[in-house]
Amino acid sequence: MNVSTLPSVELRDIQPLDAQRMRVDADGSWALLGGKCENCGKLAHPFHRGCSRCGGTERLVELEPIGEVRSSTTVHVTRPDVLLPVPYQVALVQLREGPVVSVPSLRSEVFHLGETVLLAPVLVDTLTGPRAIVQAVPLSED
Ligand SMILES: [Zn+2]
Repeated sequence: MNVSTLPSVELRDIQPLDAQRMRVDADGSWALLGGKCENCGKLAHPFHRGCSRCGGTERLVELEPIGEVRSSTTVHVTRPDVLLPVPYQVALVQLREGPVVSVPSLRSEVFHLGETVLLAPVLVDTLTGPRAIVQAVPLSED
């Protein structure tokens, strides 16, 4: 795996757009968040507190930000509160740990079914200033 080609993003003092999906620490590092059911063990993303399978209580966990593209589409209209440059791609990515995550790519690549992608932070403009979201980035195998 070659992660050195990922664009580096300065996350220090940047808040995530959705604190159920990712965490940004004071040192600028980040984590993809999810929930693990304390009853049945199901992993989910984003963190919801309640398990969608059994209703049990979820514990906040960090998920490995790597997976495989299962589906993708092109979005031509952005959210009114998040200024994503249209058009952009959105993929359903099945993480290696199991959960399926809907993630955009603000880069020009088109997703390919079965392609391995890394999830990586990117900054977006919002009505309240820059926020961090997670995008999918193709993984180049060496
Ligand atoms: Zn459960």
